[in-house]
Amino acid sequence: MCPQNIFCKMLNLVIFGPPGSGKGTQSTKIVDKYNLTHLSTGNLLREKMESETPLGKEVRQYIDKGLLVPDDIVLKEIQQIINGQDDMPGFVFDGFPRTINQAEAFDRMLDKNSTPICLVISVEVDEEELFNRLMGRSEDSGRSDDSDEIIRRRLEVYKKQTLPLISYYKSQGKIVAIKGMDPVDKVFGKICHAIDTFLHSRKVLPVVD
Ligand code: ADP
Repeated sequence: MCPQNIFCKMLNLVIFGPPGSGKGTQSTKIVDKYNLTHLSTGNLLREKMESETPLGKEVRQYIDKGLLVPDDIVLKEIQQIINGQDDMPGFVFDGFPRTINQAEAFDRMLDKNSTPICLVISVEVDEEELFNRLMGRSEDSGRSDDSDEIIRRRLEVYKKQTLPLISYYKSQGKIVAIKGMDPVDKVFGKICHAIDTFLHSRKVLPVVD
């Protein structure tokens, strides 16, 4: 269950899952408990979108259609944020990476800083429940991409472009799957168990010179 032979000087976690799986809610709880920094690319891109800059306008075109923002835009934003931040307790990356290309580029970025991803927490929720949750919150969310048609597209995009990341991180031995259908606190308890197991059993790579 735990990644083997990963030396993490920072606790870098990825919270992974489809739209509506509760990534944002769980991320907030994780950062509070483990003193980490929350980095949600969805929030980051929505902030950009609110600004009427050329970049903001470009980002809006994708978000409003339920499509992924191009990798180069997202990667540039991530690079700017994590640059020089390699002495912090760690990050919870929420909604990132979302494509194989992002994951590979992200691994290269983190390798340079010797701050790899420690654990990828995959929150699993049935598709029907996801749709109901997203539709249920759509009136209050104020999000331009929370309409029936766009929610369906986001779920499709997730299956096509993001789901393949499970195999990617499985092959690195980093993924832990959590059933996300239970109440929030129960899901959080299972996530904490996975993180604590990692923290107690992680192995340190032998230094080779
Ligand atoms: P959800 O998981 O409910 O779709 P997010 O806030 O994570 O919500 O993402 C909202 C939108 O922001 C996505 O549909 C996409 O357009 C954009 N986005 C967020 N993260 C990424 C990313 N890593 N790569 C590309 N686009 C992203």
